[in-house]
Amino acid sequence: MKVPVLRNYIDGGWVEPTGAACLDVENPATGEILARCPLSGAAEVDQAVRAADRAFPAWSEASAARRVAPLFRLAALLRQHEDELARLVTREMGKSLGDARAELKRAYENVETACGMPVHQMGDKLVGCAEGIDGEVLRLPLGVFAMSCPFNFPAMVPFWFMPYALATGNTFVVKPSEQVPLTLQRIAQLFHECGLPRGVFNLVNGDKTVSEALLDHPRVAGFSVVGSSKTCAAVAERGARHNKRVLPMGGAKNHLVVMPDARFDEVVRNLITSCYGCAGQRCMAASAIVTVGEQTHREISARFLAESRRITVGDPLAASCQNDPQAIGPVISARALAFIHTMIDTGVREGATLALDGRGVQVPGGAGGHYLGPTVFTGVRPGMQVHRTEIFGPVVVMLQADTLDDAIRIINDHPYGNGASIYTQSGYHARKFKLATHCGMIGVNVGIPAPVATLPFGGMKQSLWAAHKAQGKAVIDFFTDAKIVTERYWPDPG
Ligand code: NAD
Repeated sequence: MKVPVLRNYIDGGWVEPTGAACLDVENPATGEILARCPLSGAAEVDQAVRAADRAFPAWSEASAARRVAPLFRLAALLRQHEDELARLVTREMGKSLGDARAELKRAYENVETACGMPVHQMGDKLVGCAEGIDGEVLRLPLGVFAMSCPFNFPAMVPFWFMPYALATGNTFVVKPSEQVPLTLQRIAQLFHECGLPRGVFNLVNGDKTVSEALLDHPRVAGFSVVGSSKTCAAVAERGARHNKRVLPMGGAKNHLVVMPDARFDEVVRNLITSCYGCAGQRCMAASAIVTVGEQTHREISARFLAESRRITVGDPLAASCQNDPQAIGPVISARALAFIHTMIDTGVREGATLALDGRGVQVPGGAGGHYLGPTVFTGVRPGMQVHRTEIFGPVVVMLQADTLDDAIRIINDHPYGNGASIYTQSGYHARKFKLATHCGMIGVNVGIPAPVATLPFGGMKQSLWAAHKAQGKAVIDFFTDAKIVTERYWPDPG
């Protein structure tokens, strides 16, 4: 069968790629080539940005109610096509169908939240800020916004931004991840159907060349990226050079702290889904477990290892995996798998104990896929490479702490600060953890503390390279400029 070549969506229509260069898009579970992703260049970016720029004046002047009307239709279309889109996410990314459906749900919840923009975008006014003078804050859109997406949430992450940018009156250019561009290609068809005026939403396929051309383009007002912290650093620097607002959201190494008073049965079930769901490739996946006290360590490590050994690894679309909510799929690519293997070797060299080695896992019919079974290091000391590095696979490091203060110190000394959770029945310890831990998203007896669409999403330290956060009301500050008006009128003489 002929492998389809993806197209760009510019100015309300589908545009054939002009350059010859393409990347293969692979099903990571089987190695099957699903499509070819064109590597667009500065010319395509310019075409898309100009279309978005032309559409901006009319779109930003449309009433708030008119701007959200197509988004109501988009939310309905996403719900209607949830199953089809979830299968697409699974085919190109390799996560389970359950995870893919959860991702779609969060995507349309974000659209629905953005539909509240006529209320959320209201400014402030103080009548009488001085004698006969009023002060007013207007929240105004800026122009063309753009973003580059990561591979691990092909459907959800773009929706932390796109619906809010559009509802606030900006126009948009999105660049899907070059590793998983099929889901957004299909979603762009739904954008086409939902009735946005031409040029308001555009899509350009490609790699970092597209991101850089978007960041350098004088008509792009702001840019967000979700990806590794190395990518975030490059985007933050480039954006600053152009005095452009940027929202780069970076990597993670999320810690789960288990206290001696925690409910161990529930905790172990929670640890398993948090660490291995999506084969450890969630930005909110836990990859470091810190047990407090010797007894907690002995019991939790023994039970966690026993449960880890029971996990099935396979093609998420195979019948055996579809009926097993804990089954895990492949990692995204041969390159990612090779990197994870290197990190496992590093951990062994550093002196950590490889208590469970997932290399060489047997997957029936999985010769073409990129599989790794659950892998656990115990006896890990803070600062080891396996602890400091974001490995982004089903690899867990276990550390021991004597006290809660020691556990918090381990987390706070770590370069990343996306999420962290504590398991305890003590309100005193939970409160201390919430207040003292330097991470943007905190869980208490919740293994994946990923905020819902109405709440802000974002980390601290190397996990977030901006003052803004994504999704919900929080992202409105990123997509609007505050203009402050101080006004008075003198009475007519006579
Ligand atoms: P990546 O950094 O390789 O790529 C992300 C996007 O940035 C892609 O679209 C890519 O083309 C583009 N890009 C790559 N290099 C660039 C550069 N120098 N300048 C501009 N753009 C560039 O990330 P990935 O491997 O696709 O995604 C996984 C990473 O994303 C992990 O580190 C994960 O933790 C992170 N992530 C973070 C969050 C969060 O909430 N903080 C959410 C999801 C994923």
